[in-house]
Amino acid sequence: MEWMTPITPIQGYGENSFYIKRDDLLPFSFGGNKVRIAQEFFLDMDAQNKNCMIGYGSAKSNLNRAIANINSSRESSGECHIVSPADSNGVQIETSNSFIVSLCGAHIHLCNKNEVSETVQSVMDMCRADGKKPYYIYGDQYGHGNEAVPMRAYIKAFKEIQSQALEKNIEFDYIFHATGTGMTQAGLIAGQMIYGGHEKIVGISISRNKEFQEQILYSMLETYFSKDKPIDRGTIEVEDSFVCGGYGCYNREIVETIKKTMLINGVPLDSTYTGKAFWGMLQYIKKRKISKKNILFIHTGGTPLFFDNICGEKAWNLGC
Ligand SMILES: *Cc1c(COP(=O)(O)O)cnc(C)c1O
Repeated sequence: MEWMTPITPIQGYGENSFYIKRDDLLPFSFGGNKVRIAQEFFLDMDAQNKNCMIGYGSAKSNLNRAIANINSSRESSGECHIVSPADSNGVQIETSNSFIVSLCGAHIHLCNKNEVSETVQSVMDMCRADGKKPYYIYGDQYGHGNEAVPMRAYIKAFKEIQSQALEKNIEFDYIFHATGTGMTQAGLIAGQMIYGGHEKIVGISISRNKEFQEQILYSMLETYFSKDKPIDRGTIEVEDSFVCGGYGCYNREIVETIKKTMLINGVPLDSTYTGKAFWGMLQYIKKRKISKKNILFIHTGGTPLFFDNICGEKAWNLGC
């Protein structure tokens, strides 16, 4: 499945020309970057002749939804298992994403945050005892060894952006997006290393601190290019001033940005990823007095979270 998502201009944010790449409109399971990434995991599972998909993520995880739904849509779909840790306060919540995961018939294995590797290992053992060949998306039980696979998604997306920019005759000066695990940003940077380009790629962190996330991106790139290409640390930029206290935490300004973007541009953002990153981008631009530039924001999806957090009963409960 190869799709191209639109890049459209958006208005209402001042001095620069803003564009948004609507990866939230990928035509499968509410879209988002995790649809592109999950597709790469399935391609890799098939290439390795494995037949039992094991995903990992919290109840809010968009990746879990994409994995469970791609699995259920496949003609000869094998089993799909999702290992899901509780929130840091130990609570397991229900979300629109976890609802879809269940709807797709995935087996959910709840665990505490400190039991992830044991749980992944025991699910893999169980699949093997059943005669199946398990594929864990992140590699080994500790989550290492598969870094290069998800990066392919945004290497391809970077190429897509370049072809669209050429067609529209726009040179993007900046590409902003929400960065979480780093799979998306590492892919974009690798894409730029492969295909060229001068866009400044800025990941707005939604939870991790700058030094940690930049080091993760560096090692993902190093793994991908297996030391064939020198990695320029200058191309790795993570902004962590807008984390707001951690994963899933947000403030009133983020809620206002989400409302404004819906009202003026008809684009839904969410408070965990895209709304937080969009607000962070606007602050970044203001602080650095950036003007008259072409700025692309990648909408990485998460539409189910829009309904959980903004329309739901928790709308004004700022959480953290
Ligand atoms: C996962 C996610 C991100 C972050 O992408 P990473 O590749 O994990 O850095 C951003 N936006 C949305 C909506 C996501 O689900």
